[in-house]
Amino acid sequence: MRKTIALMIIIILTGTGCNPAGSEKPDIFLIIIDTLRADHLGCYGYDRNTTPVLDSLAESGTLFSRCQAQAPWTLPAHASIWTGLSVASHMAGIRDMITYGLSSDFDNIATILKSEGYITLGFVNVVLLNNSFGFANGFDHYSWVAHGHGRAAETVDEVLEWFMANRGNPDPKLVVIHLFDVHAPYDPPPPFDKRYSLEGTGGITDWEVSDDTELLNPEAREHLINMYDGEIAWVDSQLGRLFGQLRELDIAENALIIVTSDHGEEFLDHGLWGHAHSLYQELLHVPLIISGPGIPSGVTDPAPAAQYDILPTISAYAGVSVSDQVEGIDLFSPSQESRIIPSSGAIPGHCCTESCENFESICSVLNQYRKGIYNFHNGDEQMFDLSLDPGEHHPQPLDSVLLESLEYYRATPPLEIPPVVRGRGIDDTLEDLGYI
Ligand SMILES: [Zn+2]
Repeated sequence: MRKTIALMIIIILTGTGCNPAGSEKPDIFLIIIDTLRADHLGCYGYDRNTTPVLDSLAESGTLFSRCQAQAPWTLPAHASIWTGLSVASHMAGIRDMITYGLSSDFDNIATILKSEGYITLGFVNVVLLNNSFGFANGFDHYSWVAHGHGRAAETVDEVLEWFMANRGNPDPKLVVIHLFDVHAPYDPPPPFDKRYSLEGTGGITDWEVSDDTELLNPEAREHLINMYDGEIAWVDSQLGRLFGQLRELDIAENALIIVTSDHGEEFLDHGLWGHAHSLYQELLHVPLIISGPGIPSGVTDPAPAAQYDILPTISAYAGVSVSDQVEGIDLFSPSQESRIIPSSGAIPGHCCTESCENFESICSVLNQYRKGIYNFHNGDEQMFDLSLDPGEHHPQPLDSVLLESLEYYRATPPLEIPPVVRGRGIDDTLEDLGYI
């Protein structure tokens, strides 16, 4: 009997997976850098030194080298991060030009941790993540701006000001920070504007498109990549400032820090630019770095991971169980090599003249290194072996296993009816961002 009780106490204290010793709940920082493709970080093998701060964070923790986004643009991808669900289950996004938000009936990362005594703080920089879209649910403090491009420094200041004003508060905190600077236009502030191009932002900072959606400046690709990389280096420097200040406040050492992105960015890799329009890896391969007490350090984990794993991983670390509906897994539990990771939610945009259905009907699944993409509207199918063809330039016909997985995913009914979002200014902002 005594052994049983002792065992139960150990289980209660340590939970499952990878959580810190003792029963004190750690502060948790979830940092989402919008539009950041994984292959432009030094720690993901990029040949430019864009991210010394994140490279250092990866050395102190675990880098998941194959994290897959659930959607190729902001709204549905964040909904998956918030809930641990696939797009088919939460259905946030745009379909037939109607915008759907995140249902408030779902548990999300804030509601789950708030119920466990956490103070929940959100700092976001795009209208798509405001309360109209359902993302503020469960947050004690939620700061947002409609189009927060270029606000990395201000956002870091806001976070630090909150901690300075609440110094000594013993409750654990969940801090979700969304930074929008890497998103187009690519116009980093000095000196990052000239880090990779002497032209700086005096040159072009975005793609130029004609009224009939023809790309007018494809020759600017290299310059725009230089500017994009400058934005990444700028945001990395601001995270260095954040982490340094948190260390001075004795917060960083005992906190769990997760850095990821919602989706990547296309630079004509498959003839498209921006994001939201395809399910190729330049949009779906996102960084995921986790560091904190108890997290293995200096580890690169090549097992397939997904952004809908973030919620169950954080919850397990905090010793909280999640609903059976959650589709992601705790990344520090034994890996599931055979898992199927789905993505969908593409939409037409300013670079596309085809019908909505041609985009909204695309789904992909990843199984180990095999990836299938199927368009349920026009029947286009592609399969790639990412171990041999990471750039996805040599498509093969779909095999029956991946096709079956795609059909199963496509047939998945939503768990809740997503709310339609309408509001003054929202459509204008979505159009400004290139989403409608
Ligand atoms: Zn985004």
